[in-house]
Amino acid sequence: MSERILIVEDEAKLARFVELELLHEGYEVDKSPDGRDGLNKMESGAYDLVLLDIMLPGLNGLEVLRRARRTVDTPVIMLTARDSVMDKVTGLDMGAEDYITKPFEIEELLARIRAALRKAQRRQPASHVLTAGALALDVDRYTAAYDGQPIELTHREFDLLRTLMENEGIVMSRSALVERVWGYDYMGETNIVDVYVRYLRGKIDDAYGVKLLHTVRGVGYVLRV
Ligand code: CA
Repeated sequence: MSERILIVEDEAKLARFVELELLHEGYEVDKSPDGRDGLNKMESGAYDLVLLDIMLPGLNGLEVLRRARRTVDTPVIMLTARDSVMDKVTGLDMGAEDYITKPFEIEELLARIRAALRKAQRRQPASHVLTAGALALDVDRYTAAYDGQPIELTHREFDLLRTLMENEGIVMSRSALVERVWGYDYMGETNIVDVYVRYLRGKIDDAYGVKLLHTVRGVGYVLRV
């Protein structure tokens, strides 16, 4: 599958030129001529990389980057004017991957794009599926299965199971589980954990005749195969 690149640039000729070069390299390309539209597109999370001009109508590129970083971590290469050292520094501080100064050689831009994509690839764990015996949890798709059979879990059940699986073999106290699954500001009783472990046992241990969820008396729970 080819990688998708978004070009946020108001200079139509430059945007078109870069678009053609990227298409030629086999990337999928979208263009956006202003900051607000660019931000909306970025927030869709549909892109592997964004080329972001700084001087844009609507919202400037730095503001687009600042807002986009609340929700997405798509690598961004800033397109900056020659003299704007502040823009470069600010852009990098705000989480841009790299910048390139206009006017640029297309070969240099392509090299920077390849480098940024490689780096982003390395950041991603190879697999987002946790397993314990025949139990599998796909943390991207929010699905669970035992021996290939789908298990219906609520959001909380999923989060609790995920925490236990990430800590397989490690005894987790009730308060540690509450903190991770319900959050620091949860004000209720820690026996909420017992209730949810019971739900999970019903759906996994009892349903498949196995024993994965173990009680450690006086302490908490451990998932062990
Ligand atoms: Ca511009």
